[in-house]
Amino acid sequence: MATYTPMIQQYLSVKAQAQDAFLFFRLGDFYEMFFDDALLASKELEITLTGRDGGAEERIPMCGVPYHSADTYINRLIEKGYKVAICEQVEDPAAAKGVVRREIVRVVTPGTVMEGKTLGERVNNYILCVTERNGLMALATCDLSTGELYVTSAPSSEEWLRDEVGLYDPSEVIGDEALLAYIREQAAPLGKTVVYTPWSKGKDEDGRKQFGEAVWIRLESERRDCIALLVGYLGETQKRSLGQLTKISSYEPEQYMILDPFTRRNLELVETVRERSKKGSLLWLLDKTETSMGARLLRRWIDKPLLQRSRIEERLEAVEALYNGFILREDLRLSLLEIYDLERLTGRIAYGSANGRDMIALKSSLRQVPAIKDLCASSPSSTLRALAESMDTCADLAEMIEAAIADEPPVSVRDGGIIKGGYHARLDELREAGSNGKRWIAELEAAERRATGIKSLKIGYNKVFGYYIEVTKANLPSLPEGRYERKQTLANAERFVTPELKEKETLILEAEEQMADLEYRLFNELRERIAGEIQRLQHLAEKIAEVDVLRSLAAIASEGGFVKPVLSDGFDLVVEQGRHPVVESVMKDTSFISNGTDLKKDGASILLITGPNMAGKSTYMRQVALISILAQIGSFVPAAKAEIPLVDRIFTRIGAADDLIGGQSTFMVEMADIQVMTEKATAKSLIIIDELGRGTSTSEGMAIAQAVIEYVHDHIGCKALVSTHFHELAHLENSLSGLRNYRMAVQESGDKVHFLRKLIPGAADTSYGIYCARLAGLPEGIIDRAYGLLQGFEQAASAVTAGGPPREPAESGAAEGDSGSAVDGADRAQAFAAGESAAVAAGIAAKEAA
Ligand code: ADP
Repeated sequence: MATYTPMIQQYLSVKAQAQDAFLFFRLGDFYEMFFDDALLASKELEITLTGRDGGAEERIPMCGVPYHSADTYINRLIEKGYKVAICEQVEDPAAAKGVVRREIVRVVTPGTVMEGKTLGERVNNYILCVTERNGLMALATCDLSTGELYVTSAPSSEEWLRDEVGLYDPSEVIGDEALLAYIREQAAPLGKTVVYTPWSKGKDEDGRKQFGEAVWIRLESERRDCIALLVGYLGETQKRSLGQLTKISSYEPEQYMILDPFTRRNLELVETVRERSKKGSLLWLLDKTETSMGARLLRRWIDKPLLQRSRIEERLEAVEALYNGFILREDLRLSLLEIYDLERLTGRIAYGSANGRDMIALKSSLRQVPAIKDLCASSPSSTLRALAESMDTCADLAEMIEAAIADEPPVSVRDGGIIKGGYHARLDELREAGSNGKRWIAELEAAERRATGIKSLKIGYNKVFGYYIEVTKANLPSLPEGRYERKQTLANAERFVTPELKEKETLILEAEEQMADLEYRLFNELRERIAGEIQRLQHLAEKIAEVDVLRSLAAIASEGGFVKPVLSDGFDLVVEQGRHPVVESVMKDTSFISNGTDLKKDGASILLITGPNMAGKSTYMRQVALISILAQIGSFVPAAKAEIPLVDRIFTRIGAADDLIGGQSTFMVEMADIQVMTEKATAKSLIIIDELGRGTSTSEGMAIAQAVIEYVHDHIGCKALVSTHFHELAHLENSLSGLRNYRMAVQESGDKVHFLRKLIPGAADTSYGIYCARLAGLPEGIIDRAYGLLQGFEQAASAVTAGGPPREPAESGAAEGDSGSAVDGADRAQAFAAGESAAVAAGIAAKEAA
């Protein structure tokens, strides 16, 4: 190191503090990168790699970006999952002895970006911290751009952690190293770029200071620890006060319906399985919000359906009033349209990065609030009236901005032009002096023209030479000797200064500099005053977002012909003419066929659905899940009538996501999911299994399917929809009192099948696999042979098993009318498997004999 120049030595010592980040090292008007950073950045950013002498024998690899366009480059690196440490000169170069002192002023990381493209407007950007201590896991997550912070904890469980992390879709995860490894493994198949940083530094004291003693001591200690770590990391990277973090939302996992990541994906709640795009998801359908905060809140509602009936009913009551009141809805929409992203504006104000335009955006947003408040206050909904009641319009803040900030301020906060005239006496004086100076220059120009007789003579200004008098070459002879000092020669003109011009210039420039400094100071004062009121603004933003979401739900209910669901704490789920809202909305030429649902404690709680591929089985099952979720977020539902019990958890096992879980076999994944289901499902859950038992041999698949269905029926006792292509399982209807066979109706004419999309009682008598093979274009010879074989198998199977394998009473002994010896589930499955293969063998034998 001794051989390096002092500047490179300084670089290396700063770089040592930011080893996992690109170091953007400020040199004059550039941020430079050196050594490995330069090699990698030149590739990632496609910028030229150069070199620099640094004292050692070899030149040091170097590349750089201009400071004024650095944001673009930083964002590109962040999007690729890197961190960027910004190192600035922290003393005036003129005053410095030796190398100018430089320090890292901020580390930008994917989870802590405050602006730019990386920050999607209508989505949150979360950084998440996970810890585990004494058998308890805790998770704290924050969106630095909006100031939201959530925390929760539970007894250690990997599934719990997976489900919670899945809710936030974080771009950065910090904390306990082992938990990070687990999360990374879970998230890997989803292909999202997430940055993981093991992190263990955080002081309880810092958390206490940030949120206040009263809030802090009420938190469980594991939650406090977790937040302290997160705050520690934010402090270390942001190196400034985080005024936007004012509130901790602490919640219990049991407050919300639990949806594991696969279920959320399968049901396409916020993005589609295939394209991973919002378009085509439930969120996409529901999102008629006018503000970005509303859009983000709607997503949070979809992520966390409620379990508390009174809270859901509050939302439904407001949606109903807005549904009935078209004019109210429309008036609100027009006002909301004018509201900017209050959460992020206030975030930037507290963070200290807001500019004059942000202030104007805040002011004009605040101007809309009284209208929204009045509309809510005079509405028939008590929920909306309560929202109005709690809305502080922050009119004083709007006034403050109105008085201080110019109507059309520039982007920069340092160059003046941002503060209104009449706001500050000294500023007005300086401005007056400045404009007098300019007038003086204009007068001088006229006087010089008269004196020299040169009509084209002009006075100009540039940054290097200041004010000058410009005379074209042709006119030079007319210029008197003596008074004019030559400054610069251009192709066809010369530039001069005079002593009196120089003197005035000094005055003008000084005034301008003072003006810019003063404006900057005044602007900062105002920004800090408003930052001091941040809690009021954040609170207001929340209320506005809520109004926006409720209005959006009403709009979609009205457009989509939804009805208000009736909620119950009971078991029965009864829907008349239910529809799948998203499939329905994208259908063009045909219309969606509605289907009812009738899952009852004293009737059928499990539906076993058979029918050919493409008949509409999985659409139907998803429809039931979506209707439950919609109801529990407080939305109307796509049906003619709906009675919805509160569901604590929805499990889905649906084929479509299989292709995304690289490496693992479909069957293993299915079995692992089912294992979790058997452990976690309660009588209040809803289970949806599509094509249960595929992915292994027919006989084993069928055996497992039967065993699983029996378990759900006897031990869990929840509502379940199971589709299968094993129409042979239909016999279960005889032995399981809560199970009913249903099928998707098809109309056969000749060898054509027409899908009716109607769910009707009874089992399909074939799975139409061979029919599908024909649709797929297999030669007729193969098709005929397959039909022939099938017939043989079926005859043999019915001869051997005579209506399916016997079923033993459940351990509880509840099932009636069963016969057979008491063997456990596994034996039963085996016995069944043996019977089935015997049937197949017999079928083949029969066929060959024929
Ligand atoms: P399955 O699960 O039986 O293979 P799907 O549920 O995937 O069938 O449905 C196949 C297609 O049929 C869907 O993509 C949709 O376009 C259409 N469809 C499904 N249900 C309905 C319905 N109720 N009304 C109209 N079209 C439907």
